[in-house]
Amino acid sequence: MSAMKNQVRTTISLSTLPVRQRHLLKQICRLADERDLSVYLVGGVVRDLLLKRGNWDLDLTVEGDGIAFARLVADRYGAGLAVFERFATARLTFPNGLKLDIATSRRESYAQPALLPTVQHASIEEDLSRRDFTINAIAVQLNQRQFGRIFDPYEGQRDLCARTIRVLHAGSFLDDPTRIFRAIRFEQRFGFRLERTTLHLLAQAASTNLIQRLSGPRLRNEILLLFAERNPVLTIARLAQLKLLRFLHRRLCYVKNVKQVVSAVPKALAWWTRRFPDSVIDRPMVYLMALSSESSPLVVATMIRRLALSREQAKNMRVGGSRIDRARKRLTDARTIRPSQVYRLLAGFSGEALVLLLARQVAMRHEVLLRRLKRDLVSYVKSRTVKTSLTGRDLQALGLKPGPQYSTILGKLLAARIDKLITTEAEERAFVRKWLGERNVHDDHR
Ligand code: ATP
Repeated sequence: MSAMKNQVRTTISLSTLPVRQRHLLKQICRLADERDLSVYLVGGVVRDLLLKRGNWDLDLTVEGDGIAFARLVADRYGAGLAVFERFATARLTFPNGLKLDIATSRRESYAQPALLPTVQHASIEEDLSRRDFTINAIAVQLNQRQFGRIFDPYEGQRDLCARTIRVLHAGSFLDDPTRIFRAIRFEQRFGFRLERTTLHLLAQAASTNLIQRLSGPRLRNEILLLFAERNPVLTIARLAQLKLLRFLHRRLCYVKNVKQVVSAVPKALAWWTRRFPDSVIDRPMVYLMALSSESSPLVVATMIRRLALSREQAKNMRVGGSRIDRARKRLTDARTIRPSQVYRLLAGFSGEALVLLLARQVAMRHEVLLRRLKRDLVSYVKSRTVKTSLTGRDLQALGLKPGPQYSTILGKLLAARIDKLITTEAEERAFVRKWLGERNVHDDHR
């Protein structure tokens, strides 16, 4: 990284932090000095300061009781406080919206691999030694007399310069297999490479079944964080290369069809967000859906369980396969299709499912059909804002008995509105009367 200019520093100026953050840190350090506590900035923010990348997630570590110190800060500055005793950490939310995590510098021991560790107070050096990679194991002291002094016992700066991800010890991935995914996340994000021994250790850990021991939420979290990075297509290819996809499902393969759909997602997402800037799409979820889009319902169901997906995520995964493709085929059939039919076909799908549907078409590389599908999607999103003037109450006033026919007639009215066969309330009333008339004649003849 040119920003590092191959230099290993002993101090760093925090002047690139925004003023509000810097001011907050100064205040906190004064308080720490008053109490004779050593306080450090640690983790991702230090790494990103050295890389000159914006990251304003402030993580502090206190040599001593971090939670007690966090309470003191919260009292002094009127900040909200959430305490996580099990991890000896606290999160502060200041009245101006700034957030800050304060932890007790600690040692961790793993009673069993892949489970959460036990935590004991320790020095900053020991605290750094429990961290995942050298580039994340750098601390900056904040106490006034040593403000800006860098602690880099594992030569994280050297690895930043060499653009390398390196674990601190040989058992690192075995202690905590989430680090396997974290390694790939940082490698892909920064365009770094895994140091040779680290890659070897990662491959070794991945060849065991340790990842199976991770709980569903922890595995899901890592996978979705990976897919939230800037280029999930490369990340997924890397997961496949390192034989890690099997932990989502042992039969999940990165075959040509899946690769084509996954590779089409960025284009589909870009079009969708340009066309509908207000719609909120869970991007990582679209990649997960794309990845499983050629899998059988049975495989998808197992993945849903393994990753402990939420009800909404599970629903997305289930429609992600053949249902989406059936809808895509209907829409790109040679026949012309009315806007109300498009509406009916797509009404049950989430935004994520619609983006995937588009991605599947992008993957087909058929420009004419792609243009038609995009037109249909625009028409569908417009249709979603169409409403009928009449409601159930109006139907009652028109003499219609409440019952299932209400949704039939309101559905017909909505379709007629969407197709612009009807544009006013008067026309809606006439439509209902005519429909009722026809029904009565029909009933009379029975
Ligand atoms: P990001 O920029 O993605 O937030 P980060 O490095 O800040 O990256 P966090 O998950 O917020 O990542 O973790 C903060 C710090 O805590 C890391 O920099 C690392 O030092 C340490 N850490 C986090 N997860 C682990 C882990 N699984 N094992 C060891 N250390 C970890």
